Amino acid sequence: MEPQEQVIQKSKIEEVFNRQKEWSLKLRKSTAIHRISNLNKMQDWIQAHKEDIRKAVYADFKKPFPETDLSEIFVVTSEINHAIKHLGDWMKPKSVSTPLTMVGSKSNIQYEPKGAALIIAPWNFPFNLAMGPLVSALAAGCTAIVKPSEMTPHTSALIRRLVEEVFEPELVAVFEGDVEVSQMLLAMPFDHIFFTGSPSVGKIVMKAAAENLSSVTLELGGKSPAIIDRNVDIVDAATKVAWGKFLNCGQTCVAPDYVLVHEEVKDAFIEELSVQMQKMYDPKSKGIENSRDYGRIVNRKHWNRLNELFEDGTSKGAKIIFGGNSIGEENYFEPTLMSEVKEDMKVIQEEIFGPILPIISYSGIEEAIEYINLKPKPLSLYVFSNENHVPDQVLQETSAGAVVINDCVIQFLQKELPFGGVNTSGFGKAHGYFGFLAFSNEKAVMKQRIGLTASRPLYPPYGFSGKKILKALLKWF
Ligand code: NAD
Repeated sequence: MEPQEQVIQKSKIEEVFNRQKEWSLKLRKSTAIHRISNLNKMQDWIQAHKEDIRKAVYADFKKPFPETDLSEIFVVTSEINHAIKHLGDWMKPKSVSTPLTMVGSKSNIQYEPKGAALIIAPWNFPFNLAMGPLVSALAAGCTAIVKPSEMTPHTSALIRRLVEEVFEPELVAVFEGDVEVSQMLLAMPFDHIFFTGSPSVGKIVMKAAAENLSSVTLELGGKSPAIIDRNVDIVDAATKVAWGKFLNCGQTCVAPDYVLVHEEVKDAFIEELSVQMQKMYDPKSKGIENSRDYGRIVNRKHWNRLNELFEDGTSKGAKIIFGGNSIGEENYFEPTLMSEVKEDMKVIQEEIFGPILPIISYSGIEEAIEYINLKPKPLSLYVFSNENHVPDQVLQETSAGAVVINDCVIQFLQKELPFGGVNTSGFGKAHGYFGFLAFSNEKAVMKQRIGLTASRPLYPPYGFSGKKILKALLKWF
């Protein structure tokens, strides 16, 4: 951006921010009915523009329409419906019990909107991951500035259209652009920043937030493992892993990044996984590049990055069991299975975020657990097993944002569960009630009676009776 453009952009951001900040004070008194009417307007627009959304995401990276229906549109419309249904309950003050030492008082938790929020979104589910947090922000009574990803310009423009046609700018506004715009926004003293993206940018966001002591939700990424136990339904596990990994060409934060398979079932699992990949993406053997059900890598930069991971692996001895082909002009990268991988390979060290699936074998579940525990805590962890004790042991001995037993990726659709990571994979939670909480301040409210209170005998001067009460407190409470 030219210096002159920078000045103009910065002053636009400041103007919208100040209007939202002012409006956010009025929103403190907003009712569930008012917030629901905003959510309904958003829902109506999405329902009326489904085809536009499909076309925009397709124009960005050829995502098949059915994938967009499920992973971009349905996840947002169901998030809106869920919020509309439960918002009245979520907003109600929650009474808490009164301990004996506080007798005479009453306490509850009230949910006030945090205020002016910033939502920064990634490109991989460009509509879903910008609009999902916006649903939570509106449900909580916040204003929001949304910064969609510059890597998906068609969806970004569509998001701007939605926001401009549905909301007043003092409630919701969109600023499109790249890192520069993102950093201008991050300089403003937002009350809450909801960031979805990579761990490295997450650190930059958190540092910027620290300047203003803005609270943050960081929805980050990393390497999510899928464990395949020796006692497993091979067809079931292979089908689910094939779907969860290659949906969206593997560009999914919760996709299995690598498979840890018990050595006794390794060959059978790999064979079945190949069968299922063929069935899903090339049932008539016409070449996956011709499949209408398989999308593309978002741009050449990410296609190059994946090729580097691939070349690095194969040059160090990795074996390609399935796929491996790619077409640069189309940003096409075939679903690929890789075995014989080693720790010094980039596919093992970096988040893959694409359609390459390394397979690693283990000989006992303790070995798999130790392997996972030596790496940063994952966003998701999947365990496929016919027995209960194996998933139980994994649950107890590892840390992850989510654990799914006998499936993968579907936890994103379970609105009753918090969605988010732990440490490197992020912190703070999203979806449903947890998304509402992310944008709310849980205000502690206590009402004391007038006159005699339980603490009065403890006021100075500290006499005999006060000391006696303190002694009892220390002993019994
Ligand atoms: P990214 O971190 O590169 O970009 C995300 C957003 O941050 C974009 O809007 C971008 O413009 C902005 N940005 C980039 N660099 C910035 C900087 N230096 N300062 C300020 N803002 C900056 O992430 P991405 O490539 O868009 O998405 C992929 C990553 O996101 C992966 O790591 C993936 O695992 C993660 N992800 C996590 C979730 C989740 O819910 N936990 C969901 C999707 C993606």
